Amino acid sequence: MVLDIKFTIIGSLLIFSLIPLYIYRKEIYNRFYKQGDIKKFIRDVDSYLSTNHPRIRFNFNILKKVENEKDIRIKETLIVEDLVGQFVYHEYELYTQKSVTKDKLWNGYDSNSKLLKDNKLPIDWQQRKEAAWLREEGKCNRCGTKSKLVDSQVLLAKQMRNGGGFNLENIVVLCNDCTRVIKSSNLEKTRKDLLILDNLMRKVAN
Ligand SMILES: [Zn+2]
Repeated sequence: MVLDIKFTIIGSLLIFSLIPLYIYRKEIYNRFYKQGDIKKFIRDVDSYLSTNHPRIRFNFNILKKVENEKDIRIKETLIVEDLVGQFVYHEYELYTQKSVTKDKLWNGYDSNSKLLKDNKLPIDWQQRKEAAWLREEGKCNRCGTKSKLVDSQVLLAKQMRNGGGFNLENIVVLCNDCTRVIKSSNLEKTRKDLLILDNLMRKVAN
């Protein structure tokens, strides 16, 4: 009997404590979604982009379009997708680079700069790649990100069939993401597979 009364009291208390939850459900719901700090997220992303991709000027026009989005995760994801889109569609053309001084060149440099008959890379190709990478201080020509030599890619500004050679002026240093973008035949597919997307998504609230 005593147990029954205790049970009734506790049960009633529990029910009563749930009523405000029901009455204020909207406010509680809103508060839950307001937890994320969008300003901090924007600051963080902006500083990441200007440090890592200084050659691309990103805009945050997307903020207006998503201002009514309550879920912070959806909002931040939409912002990231827009920024990655700007990275992918950033206009860029491969162009001839500056020369390096003669003292940095090596024996056989001139003769190996010309196209070989069988379309093979010259014997000193690795040396050329490194010299071009040093000239750029490891920075990607398109976005400005800094990569190690092993993670950098090189493309020829002027293709061999158009008279280009293996001379250093014709060698352009690029990061992995930019190489993928330049070589891509399907940018909408490529944009889902970039390092910049992974890095920015790590900043999204979860
Ligand atoms: Zn790049």
